[in-house]
Amino acid sequence: MHGYWLEQNKINGHYIPLSISPDDFRRLVPELAKMGFVGANVTIPHKLSALEIATKVSDRAQLIGAANTLTFGVDGEIFADNTDGYGFITNIKTVCRDWAASDGPSLVLGAGGAARAVLSALLDDGAPQILITNRTRSKADSLKRDFGDRISVIDWADISKNLYALNTLINTTSLGMVGKDKMDLDLTNLSSQTLVTDIVYTPLETELLKIASRKGCRTVDGLGMLIYQGIPGFEKWFGKTPIVTPELREILLK
Ligand code: NAP
Repeated sequence: MHGYWLEQNKINGHYIPLSISPDDFRRLVPELAKMGFVGANVTIPHKLSALEIATKVSDRAQLIGAANTLTFGVDGEIFADNTDGYGFITNIKTVCRDWAASDGPSLVLGAGGAARAVLSALLDDGAPQILITNRTRSKADSLKRDFGDRISVIDWADISKNLYALNTLINTTSLGMVGKDKMDLDLTNLSSQTLVTDIVYTPLETELLKIASRKGCRTVDGLGMLIYQGIPGFEKWFGKTPIVTPELREILLK
């Protein structure tokens, strides 16, 4: 993705994978700037450490409690941001231009790291009420404490009772992902008016999205979230806004 954008913008650069152990993260990441890197994306298990080594943190990364994008400045400055929520909401709005989180209640499945980014983006977009449910209920309760009054926690066993009048249903669990457990929910009560999105993108059309499509719901897959979360970092590193094209999606799908 970044290689495509670098080429499109005629920037002489590279985006490369680096594997760093948690023990070395704090020591090695600041060294990257000295080696000419302008920034980095960080993923599990480093998202919290990335926040901790930063000299400056964006409000959204602070609220989410994790960073996925680092930008190296002069004199050892490290700016930490979290662009997952931006990617999540921009993806939906690009696919369904008339959708807004403010149109009605949402139900979020899952309370892991990605759920935090999704919650912050939904709240930012004016969601009036967000139901959240997680297999381990205590984690959902902790999200309610962090994100406030517009969040209500429901039991995992009560999902089907709460599907009637949703504006948006979002899967942020790893259920349905290749190699993970199957999504096994009773979606009988899902309304065709609900927009259903899955942040899992392998497979691209998850079981949840298949069922939702059959019920006449609008669906949005998770690949766009991955693509759009890359935009703010690229802009900050290179001063250019990268374009998302159908060709880019095709390249990623291959
Ligand atoms: P995480 O922090 O490990 O959270 C995993 C979540 O899945 C937890 O809520 C966990 O519930 C739930 N879960 C796992 N197995 C389950 C099962 N058998 N039954 C019910 N719930 C189960 O992971 P994450 O970082 O939030 O990522 C979650 C998924 O989103 C991954 O598949 C990841 O690839 C995807 N993702 C996609 C994007 C994108 O750009 N599209 C971005 C970030 C993440 P418990 O708390 O009960 O364990």
